[in-house]
Amino acid sequence: MPDVIVVGGGVIGLSIAWELAGQGLAVRILEQGVFGRESSWAGAGMLPPGSLVNARTPEARLRGAAHQMWPEWSDSLTSSTGMDNGFIRCGGLEVRLSSAEGDDVETEFHREVEGLRLEGVVVETESLAQVRQRFPMLGPDVTHAYSLPDFCQVRNPRHLQALQIGCAVRGVEMVSGAVVRKIVTRGDRIESVQASDTEHRGAEFVFAGGAWSGELLRQLGATLLIEPLKGQIVLLQAIPLAFRPVIQVGREYLVPRSDGRILVGSTEERSGFDKRNTAEGVSGLLRFAQRVVPSLKDAHFEKCWAGLRPYSGSGKPSIGRLPQLSNALVAAGHFRYGLHLSPITAVLIREILLQQTVQLPEECCVG
Ligand SMILES: Cc1cc2nc3c(=O)[nH]c(=O)nc-3n(C[C@H](O)[C@H](O)[C@H](O)COP(=O)(O)OP(=O)(O)OC[C@H]3O[C@@H](n4cnc5c(N)ncnc54)[C@H](O)[C@@H]3O)c2cc1C
Repeated sequence: MPDVIVVGGGVIGLSIAWELAGQGLAVRILEQGVFGRESSWAGAGMLPPGSLVNARTPEARLRGAAHQMWPEWSDSLTSSTGMDNGFIRCGGLEVRLSSAEGDDVETEFHREVEGLRLEGVVVETESLAQVRQRFPMLGPDVTHAYSLPDFCQVRNPRHLQALQIGCAVRGVEMVSGAVVRKIVTRGDRIESVQASDTEHRGAEFVFAGGAWSGELLRQLGATLLIEPLKGQIVLLQAIPLAFRPVIQVGREYLVPRSDGRILVGSTEERSGFDKRNTAEGVSGLLRFAQRVVPSLKDAHFEKCWAGLRPYSGSGKPSIGRLPQLSNALVAAGHFRYGLHLSPITAVLIREILLQQTVQLPEECCVG
């Protein structure tokens, strides 16, 4: 019988399995479809900077811890698998566009910069003329910009492949096509989970089912309000690559990959578990991209896709033990930040499960 059964093979479940197997635990991970092909594959791989220096909110502390962990986490995965996940410190440029509504962009913009600096994040500000000199590809609608030199990115499909190899190297049993429908309990313990026709018994159970988690855990009486929030992405080919840093405009962004591809994201839509692209979603993203970088009108359209972010409503993930059960943990609801927060989530689950000192305050652990 495995020490731990992990349900859900996205970046969260795979990172947890890899971390726990690294401690010598026998781990089995159950995935209803194909490993790493849901939200984690669809994401853009942005890893924004954070700092633990003055982070006050649980979200900022998680971001700060994740930012600190990524370089070593990535190195360790690369050296144990030989697979390059494309992790780089590419820098970021946060910009604002002229708005017909006459919002008070100036005040908001300065408040944002101050907030980040107070937290301990490195922010570089320059005049717009200086920014345009450094980034001449920016369109005339750009009115404000600041740089985040510590912004990083990872090629998430490659990272997921590396995690699968890493899990295999550490002896994790990986079962795909295993749809967990029933959770069998006795007293305050889970005895087994039923996946397709097989019963999987384990000592501890970790539920990392992404956007499906709310539905799955309802049978345990857990009221985790996690729902799918669709995000569409368009992939362009722009050779030569017009810029290097990730460009963000609030919740929309352009992520340049080193091979000349540019990801344009993303929408936020409530459409249940429907992952289809829409004409409105794709055309909106194409308009946005050309407004920020007009020369992208000549880029080639490669493809588009969509994924289902696990949205918790509070914006905070749920990481920790499920109440009323002595051997059940949850790690879900990471919304827009699951790739970024995957290393710290895996470490927190390991610390809680092995009763080690938990390095972040409790309010960071349970959403
Ligand atoms: C368009 C888009 C852009 C994004 N960009 C970024 C970004 O730049 N940076 C960032 O950090 N995050 C980003 N995200 C968010 C990030 O992708 C998610 O937060 C993260 O992938 C969540 O990981 P997960 O493992 O919880 O979920 P998933 O990757 O969805 O994995 C959950 C897995 O559990 C399986 N599962 C569910 N129920 C069961 C069951 N009953 N039995 C067995 N298996 C089950 C599912 O099949 C799935 O494979 C983005 C998301 C989208 C959609």
